[in-house]
Amino acid sequence: MTRLERNPPATGCRNAPILKERGQHEVFCGLTGIIWLHRKMQDAFFLVVGSRTCAHLLQSAAGVMIFAEPRFGTAILEETDLAGLADAQEELEREVDRLLARRSDIRQLFLVGSCPSEVIKLDLARAAERLSARHAPHVRVLNYSGSGIETTFTEGEDACLASMVPALPETAERQLLLVGALPDVVEDQALDLLQKLGIENVAVLPARRADKGLAIGPNTVFALTQPFLGGTHAALERRGARHVPAPFPFGEEGTTAWLAAVAREFGVDRARFDAVTSAPRARARRAIRKAAEALHGKSVFFFPDSQLEIPLARFLTRECGMEAIEIGAPYIHKGLVGPDLDLLAPGPTLAEGQDVERQLDRCRAESPDLTVCGLGLANPLEAEGLATKWAIELVFTPVHFYEQAGDLAGLFSRPLRRRTALHLGTG
Ligand code: SF4
Repeated sequence: MTRLERNPPATGCRNAPILKERGQHEVFCGLTGIIWLHRKMQDAFFLVVGSRTCAHLLQSAAGVMIFAEPRFGTAILEETDLAGLADAQEELEREVDRLLARRSDIRQLFLVGSCPSEVIKLDLARAAERLSARHAPHVRVLNYSGSGIETTFTEGEDACLASMVPALPETAERQLLLVGALPDVVEDQALDLLQKLGIENVAVLPARRADKGLAIGPNTVFALTQPFLGGTHAALERRGARHVPAPFPFGEEGTTAWLAAVAREFGVDRARFDAVTSAPRARARRAIRKAAEALHGKSVFFFPDSQLEIPLARFLTRECGMEAIEIGAPYIHKGLVGPDLDLLAPGPTLAEGQDVERQLDRCRAESPDLTVCGLGLANPLEAEGLATKWAIELVFTPVHFYEQAGDLAGLFSRPLRRRTALHLGTG
């Protein structure tokens, strides 16, 4: 079905050796996901059960919300809670009752665990169960962990979506489920393409509102839009849904291959596929060509951060003319990123997990033109003369599907252009 402009490599990287690193992850915790999830799920509230540090992280990452009643907050665990002197469970339930009495717009409430709530072993699952029973059917209360002990920043979304799956009603209907929180405008573009392909029954997890009637069952097939949803993938399979493996929809090639996998599943014929995709494909190619001029022949090094690294390396090497030196990812789940690995030519070091000192040594030795890394590493590396791209921006910015393909290339070329401009200015 797919007519890829570039041939896949004779052997991809699916079976390439993976360097396993076993140090601590130097990334944000899973609470960060609340920043994009609370915008997406319009009747949800995220109640972090944590410390003042957790509250500060959320406030500084999200900015202060002025225009609307916020859809997230922190139930602060005080020293008496941490010392086991107060019944934190009871207090939490009282807090939730108060919140729900005041906010009738809340239909889904997530109790989000943190490092402190884990340390004192607060049973959020039991609290969610009791509160759900008390506030059903108007509000569904769920829980997941966003703690830095258990999760890296994109795993917060995974844990959140996975927590929703067991509570979804059963359906026997044949349907496609898109899985992953995309900005509304990007989600609408994807739904429009699928509808033009004639795929009618399409649902999205997470739905924008709880009353969207989302259900799941053995005739549900699902396509992931984010490569960090391993837990959600497993939860959906436990409910009998079937995954449609595909490269992730980054860039023209990734988007076409992703759509082609879905189209094959639903028996869309070649002529229709080409008719629907040819114009946006051509637009995407043009946009990438322009935005990627500064990337041709340049090298890139990925520190493990967002789990987007493998699909992005595929995009940068195959569509933007870059050379990948090292592709680090917190976890490499071949059931998810296998199709991207198939398209990735052998050569780069694949590394799973983090040992930051060793990775820094390798990065310095290679002196790549561009280093994709977390905020904490970016400043020191910039000071050493390396151009960097913050991995977290790739999660906050609309980068999926055809219409964003040029912007995605632009995100990587900007630091290189800026560096050239600075050098010209000082030269
Ligand atoms: Fe820090 Fe842990 Fe709270 Fe995240 S959950 S802000 S890592 S204390």
